[in-house]
Amino acid sequence: MKVGFIGIGQMGGPMSKRILEAGHDLTVHDLRKDAGKYVLDKGADWADTPQAITETCRVVISCLPTPVQVQEVVYGVNGLMAGWKNGDIYVDMSTNSPTVMRKVAMDARAAGVAVLDAPVTGGTQGAQKGTLTIMVGGDGLALEKIRPILQAMGTKIVHVGDVGCGNVAKLVNNLISLTNNTIDAQAFVLGVKAGIDPQILWEITTSGTANNWNLQQYPQTVFQGNFEPGFKLSLGSKDIGLALQLAREYGVPQLVGAAVEQSLLEAQAAGLGDKSVDSIGLYMEKLVGVQVRPAKK
Ligand code: NAD
Repeated sequence: MKVGFIGIGQMGGPMSKRILEAGHDLTVHDLRKDAGKYVLDKGADWADTPQAITETCRVVISCLPTPVQVQEVVYGVNGLMAGWKNGDIYVDMSTNSPTVMRKVAMDARAAGVAVLDAPVTGGTQGAQKGTLTIMVGGDGLALEKIRPILQAMGTKIVHVGDVGCGNVAKLVNNLISLTNNTIDAQAFVLGVKAGIDPQILWEITTSGTANNWNLQQYPQTVFQGNFEPGFKLSLGSKDIGLALQLAREYGVPQLVGAAVEQSLLEAQAAGLGDKSVDSIGLYMEKLVGVQVRPAKK
């Protein structure tokens, strides 16, 4: 299948590479051509605009930072909408607003284009290994047509419901994971400030009721002083904002989520937006004057 991919970043790079390796023809576009190098060196073609991708590809995927860039790519000058043909399929794999994706789907339907929202979880490691969980919202027939492409990127592909539902599931997931991430950071800084070695704390917490995915990564991330993304703090802040917006739309209070958003915004205001989402701990470390690094043995 001829596949277009827009947004060759931390996630889109390895995801598009896996599509290429699965034997599909690939054409890519990014605002930065140097980002495309990740797959151009391996045989992908380059397109100067989203519209140019639609000249050859009947399936186009995007993986972009926020709903703003997704709307630029769809509606902007030389955007997808200017080139879509009847029968095309557009799959947005960004973490995005369900409301925005429902509008895109409605506008695309007029051109005979099926839209799926298919955000992912599993991080950059999952993207590299092709073990992502992919949450799909939209038409089941369109999903079956592109399933082989999704299978190149993920091992668990779940049809959640109508378009937008993929992102509802993803925002629920990230409301939980970003809350874990924030409390892990704040609690570990407390433990270290109160005199406990973080390695000992980690062995206790990961073997008991406090265990969570983010904490399991600490030996490779926080304990090494490694705060490079991975998943940028600014994107975590965007996701919690989208989750709270969804909660407002449906009138569902999110007291804890609101506090997590403020913690992330604080770290972002301190200049940590382009660091990994774990750098919420870096911010806390500086605030109270400790470092969450195990004692060298
Ligand atoms: P990233 O910032 O590393 O990559 C985004 C890419 O999009 C960049 O290469 C950028 O140049 C490009 N881009 C931006 N605006 C563009 C435009 N208008 N046209 C074309 N290209 C444009 O981000 P990422 O970490 O790859 O995340 C992408 C999406 O996946 C986000 O929605 C994020 O929330 C989600 N996500 C990320 C992770 C993760 O661990 N990084 C995990 C799950 C989901």
